[in-house]
Amino acid sequence: MNRILLMGPPGAGKGTQAGRLAEELRVPHIATGDMLRAEVASGSELGKKARSYMDAGEYVPDDLVIAMLSERISRADARRGFVLDGFPRTLPQARALTDRLGNEDLDVVVYLEVPETEIVRRISGRRSCPQGHVYHVEDNPPETEGTCDVDGEPLYQREDDGEEVVRNRLRVYREQTQPVVEFYRGKGLLREVDGTGHPDEVQKRILEVL
Ligand code: AMP
Repeated sequence: MNRILLMGPPGAGKGTQAGRLAEELRVPHIATGDMLRAEVASGSELGKKARSYMDAGEYVPDDLVIAMLSERISRADARRGFVLDGFPRTLPQARALTDRLGNEDLDVVVYLEVPETEIVRRISGRRSCPQGHVYHVEDNPPETEGTCDVDGEPLYQREDDGEEVVRNRLRVYREQTQPVVEFYRGKGLLREVDGTGHPDEVQKRILEVL
């Protein structure tokens, strides 16, 4: 199994688990949120278009995200497989992915289940480094407060991790992404995994269902 999609609400631990899984399987971790943040940081045309949506907790238009993802999975390193994180998030994206993969469809879709109160707690304590390393003020604090253990860069709170924007992200998730979960359930690909507890425990559960 090497074409894997990790799904779940914002703050479910998709990024952490997708990163670990990709390392384990030696395939790229493809996260559209990370790619879009890099576009915004570089000031590209795509970044300029995406920014206002992201800051408001809305989804970036399908055509932009589909084109970006499609280009990414055509690169040589994705030929042996990939772990997708944060794409597809809408039904048109899911259909575009199915068409794009043709007879090499996803092997499995892992859905991380986390209750909403826990999501809000996780996201409000999340701190990120510009290189993509992620911490939590209580669950996974860095050794020195406010500094990344890996590269020493200052940590920041994501623009879209503020409480009001988080509430909007959860609403958008329920309206637009919950149907994608049902789409994959209908295809028989969905495996639901308890996403609560320590990341090591969650990883173990994921490896078990794979
Ligand atoms: P994430 O890091 O996955 O939480 O993504 C951060 C933000 O990037 C989201 O709130 C969206 O604004 C945007 N984004 C990431 N992936 C997608 C996608 N597949 N479709 C639309 N917008 C996306």
